Amino acid sequence: MTDKEADQGSNESIVNDAADTAHSAQPFWQTKTLAQMSRDEWESLCDGCGRCCLQKLKTDHEHLVRYTRVACRLLDVSSCRCSNYRQRNALVPECITLDADNIDQFAWLPKTCAYRRLNENRGLADWHPLVSGSTSSVHEAGISVAPYAMSETYIHPDDFPTLVIDLPGD
Ligand code: SF4
Ligand code: SF4
Repeated sequence: MTDKEADQGSNESIVNDAADTAHSAQPFWQTKTLAQMSRDEWESLCDGCGRCCLQKLKTDHEHLVRYTRVACRLLDVSSCRCSNYRQRNALVPECITLDADNIDQFAWLPKTCAYRRLNENRGLADWHPLVSGSTSSVHEAGISVAPYAMSETYIHPDDFPTLVIDLPGD
């Protein structure tokens, strides 16, 4: 997925700080480009939906994929957080790190993804934790994968095509 959940504790902090800031001044996601953001700001953009950690199947169209409900083996399907974020690249070599230099390449990101939304000048959704001030709003809005994600640990790859889904709201 992305360089996103490194410090969930600090993310909680920056969510709260950003929510306070949002009420007093223009928040950073409205005044800075993705490339101008600090690392903490960049990390805080991840809404914790877990969608990019779902297994995807390629289609005939370049850059287009179909999402399945099968989640990366490191995803905690209840919290929708990576269970070993710091070592994810060693444990899951195919895990992709997003940054401001390569986000244009990732048309496969869900349309709800905060990075894609900002890159397309669509702003953050009202359920985004930076806007709502609560990390649970992404779950309450039905955006997180928690209700339907299944760990790949228990699923044979041959069965992935039978588990294709349309992501709610995407
Ligand atoms: S899809 Fe969700 S979990 Fe993945 S980077 Fe985007 S906001 Fe974060
Ligand atoms: S290792 Fe898996 S669960 Fe962790 S961030 Fe990457 S894709 Fe998501």
